[in-house]
Amino acid sequence: MSALQECDSAVWESILRERTRQVEGLELIASENYTSAAIQEAAGTVLTNKYAEGYPGRRYYGGCEFVDEVEVLARDRVCQLFGADHANVQPHAGSQANMAVYMSQLKPGDTILAMDLAHGGHLTHGMHLNFSGQLYNVVHYGVRESDHRIDFDQVASLAKEHKPKMIVAGASAYPREIDHPKFAEIAKENGALLMVDMAHYAGLVAGGCHNNPVEVADFVTSTSHKTLRGPRSGFILCKSEHAKAVDKTVFPGLQGGPLMHIVAAKAVCFHEAQQPTFKAYAEQVIANAQALAETLVAGGIRLASGGTDNHLMLCDMTAIDLTGKIAEEALDRAGITVNKNMIPFDQRKPLDPSGVRIGTAALTTRGMKEAEMKQVGDWILRVLRSTDDESKVQAIRSEIAQFAKNFPVPGISS
Ligand code: PLP
Repeated sequence: MSALQECDSAVWESILRERTRQVEGLELIASENYTSAAIQEAAGTVLTNKYAEGYPGRRYYGGCEFVDEVEVLARDRVCQLFGADHANVQPHAGSQANMAVYMSQLKPGDTILAMDLAHGGHLTHGMHLNFSGQLYNVVHYGVRESDHRIDFDQVASLAKEHKPKMIVAGASAYPREIDHPKFAEIAKENGALLMVDMAHYAGLVAGGCHNNPVEVADFVTSTSHKTLRGPRSGFILCKSEHAKAVDKTVFPGLQGGPLMHIVAAKAVCFHEAQQPTFKAYAEQVIANAQALAETLVAGGIRLASGGTDNHLMLCDMTAIDLTGKIAEEALDRAGITVNKNMIPFDQRKPLDPSGVRIGTAALTTRGMKEAEMKQVGDWILRVLRSTDDESKVQAIRSEIAQFAKNFPVPGISS
């Protein structure tokens, strides 16, 4: 019997059920992935016991010599991985990383220019209920109606008109490679700082598949748990001139003690991302997204921007007379996990939008390739054509559970 099972069977049993869900189902949530056994091991260590306010060599607690080693490894590795001058690996999550960059440079009421949530941006890019929307004067850019690509003419004209102190690039639901140099050019022309939030596609940048925002941005923020395949957390990269301001804002500005077990897991994630196999994984994530997109389009589903060049696609369910909510629920019953999502220029509401967002990072980590994506796409289409026929949906669920057995989940010994 495990210690957890003995101590708290209620939590243990929920974890077991979640584990089965992860093994038997098809994980297509674009912001999720499967961490390696090594990362899970680091995250589950005695480092969770340690307080380490401050930074390596400058802590407010004794006994930090070993966690210092870990944080230095994490910082050095992530700087090397992305070619950055400076890294702060203490933000607990992506939202905290964004908050720290904003607070290091902006005062309440300052103007930021960022992507609209309804067009693919993130809550922390100025959504009105989020701290970012409440503290700052937010101007939003979006995508063109004609092709769903970022409207750089609009970005340039809004920057000229509003003179934002900071321009934010990066998105949560944008299926195309982002032209960071173009954002940098507009920021420079208008005297704005550029922050790129690469949370979704950090793994594609690390794998050399997308252009690297560190080369052109003043600040780059990210989560570590999406395509980068690390523990749930965040980090900040910046030019040396901003290092002090960023560090001071993270601690003592916004956080107390860093989660040293998660910093250790991030160090392992950065190490894994430096291996040649990671490049192959990143390339496969994109190839898989394109193969899946092709199957879905052939089945009559309309995709925002017509396709993808990253790990995700936004599918318009109204093209097949469904809504995002109905599609998400039906797919869930079949063991296929996606999330309902607004599509650009959506006529429906955020809790009942027209689309679903689908991503291929997690299935790629399980070893699936283009042929399997075709099969996954066929199941998706079959479920969507049978949303009111539960016996068909359950039959597909059994097929999927059988199929999934051939693709072990890293870190889970079945
Ligand atoms: N930035 C982007 C672009 C994201 O997509 C997300 C998460 O979905 C975040 C930031 C926030 O990350 P977290 O959930 O770790 O706060």
